[in-house]
Amino acid sequence: MIIDLRSDTVTKPTKPMLEAMFSAEVGDDVFGEEPAVNALEDKAAKLFGKEAALFCPSGTMTNQIAIKVHTQPGDEVLCDVTAHIYNYEGGGISFNSGAQAKLIHGDRGQISAQQVLENINPNFDWLTRTSLVCIENTANRAGGSYYSLKQMQELAYVCSLNNLKYHLDGARIFNAIIENTYTPLDIGRLFDSISVCLSKGLGAPVGSVLLGDKEFIRKARRMRKVFGGGMRQGGYLAAAGIYALDNNLLRLKDDHIRAKKLSSIISGLSYVDNILPVDTNIIIFNLTEKMKPEFFVKKLAENNIKANGFGKQSIRFVTHLDYTDEMLEKTDKVLKSI
Ligand SMILES: *Cc1c(COP(=O)(O)O)cnc(C)c1O
Repeated sequence: MIIDLRSDTVTKPTKPMLEAMFSAEVGDDVFGEEPAVNALEDKAAKLFGKEAALFCPSGTMTNQIAIKVHTQPGDEVLCDVTAHIYNYEGGGISFNSGAQAKLIHGDRGQISAQQVLENINPNFDWLTRTSLVCIENTANRAGGSYYSLKQMQELAYVCSLNNLKYHLDGARIFNAIIENTYTPLDIGRLFDSISVCLSKGLGAPVGSVLLGDKEFIRKARRMRKVFGGGMRQGGYLAAAGIYALDNNLLRLKDDHIRAKKLSSIISGLSYVDNILPVDTNIIIFNLTEKMKPEFFVKKLAENNIKANGFGKQSIRFVTHLDYTDEMLEKTDKVLKSI
């Protein structure tokens, strides 16, 4: 039994998901004739109450297309210092859009309306034009923490008053939704664009959807082609996404329960210095000085557990569809034996 705690992207399609993929009705999406892709886009758009959607190969692409459509070269994007769009997309903000990021030191990955207000540049020729606010919910690097609806609403209000576009990196938005009383419709109302990953906790092998109004998606579709993301018989992949939305939303709660159990095990370990609060499916903890991360990861590997270091003394575990109670028991034993 191999236990993989590196990421929730490691899940493999289940048999029924594969069957849905096999039986997809496909066409050519670049010509707009792809029944399964169109069905996925319709479904995702309706779910969040947006006018339109675009199926893309990755969450990096959906985020980068959104930034490209919302900004002009030389513009500034406001985001948290831990943001995926800034840290883990290969410098795409500048590479793809010629824009720059102004980093805000939020609270566990969450920036406030007040902080955004303080960071909007006045309209002078010599100042960088602030044009976009991006938030991440749940926040990956910050340990899977989530925004409240009120926080997101306050940010939306500041954005609309100041003529800023408002983008949600919702790679794990359903992990946030399952822990809160807000719905996809509540979220759809607030943002100009939303990126949702199907290949994380939802268990699809590939794909993300980008949501927005018709005009935004028309521009995004053009950018997807420019970025090389126009797919042909993409319906085989879209069918997995439809299956994921139909079947794998509510079960995210199981991942959160297992993550909580893991966190209480981890906080009791003598070689663990501290652990971030665990709100969803991500567990980030720091090892004591004496325990070297390389040694810890190696010990896990010897016991068929895959995990990654996440900065200096830090380790990240992520629970997911393919992480079972049996694996949790085994992880418990191994962790206590190190
Ligand atoms: C995974 C992830 C993405 C997109 O990643 P891809 O691997 O390109 O699909 C975007 N934002 C966050 C917060 C993520 O965790």
